[in-house]
Amino acid sequence: MNLVFLGPPGSGKGTQAIRVAENLGVTHLSTGDMLREAVKNRTELGVQAEGYMKKGELVPDELIVGLIENKVTSGDLNDGFILDGFPRTMEQAKSLKEMFEKNNIQLDKAVLLQVSDEEIVKRIAGRAAEEGRADDTEDVVRNRLDVYNRQTKPIESFYREESILTEIQGEDTPENVYHKIMAAIK
Ligand code: ADP
Repeated sequence: MNLVFLGPPGSGKGTQAIRVAENLGVTHLSTGDMLREAVKNRTELGVQAEGYMKKGELVPDELIVGLIENKVTSGDLNDGFILDGFPRTMEQAKSLKEMFEKNNIQLDKAVLLQVSDEEIVKRIAGRAAEEGRADDTEDVVRNRLDVYNRQTKPIESFYREESILTEIQGEDTPENVYHKIMAAIK
């Protein structure tokens, strides 16, 4: 099963992606996790990405597309995957489509978790208190939401037109959301 998970920051996409990937026995690939790891290890990518992430901006497409391309061409995704946090711009979505075509990979579904802006701001304030992520302060969250609505939302229509978009109401308990996703991808 080859899936892309879409949804605004705080939609629960990461949590659900991990659980669904485990259940399906496929690879979970989170670009947010990869980037945070790069920042922690002070790699060249990390040093370049850090400033954008702190402000809640997207890192430039050139930095991230190559990272995903490596995973696609290395065969790491051959047993199925969930991409979590990629694509995030139309440019990334188009690059991904090309990569898949070249490597004979079929994307089965794009799963979109729908959560309203008000609910997101509420949730992330809670997460900030618990985890202390540097990009979870209210101003930065609002910016990340803005960035989502401007740069990532157009991808929803892109996958809708390809007839692979599956919309899940994400304002529910994590348990219920999980079962809704599993039912929708069967
Ligand atoms: P969230 O979905 O909660 O915003 P992520 O962990 O997916 O969090 O991403 C955190 C940050 O990492 C983003 O705000 C952005 O700066 C950067 N990032 C992650 N994935 C991408 C991507 N595909 N393109 C550009 N930037 C990205």
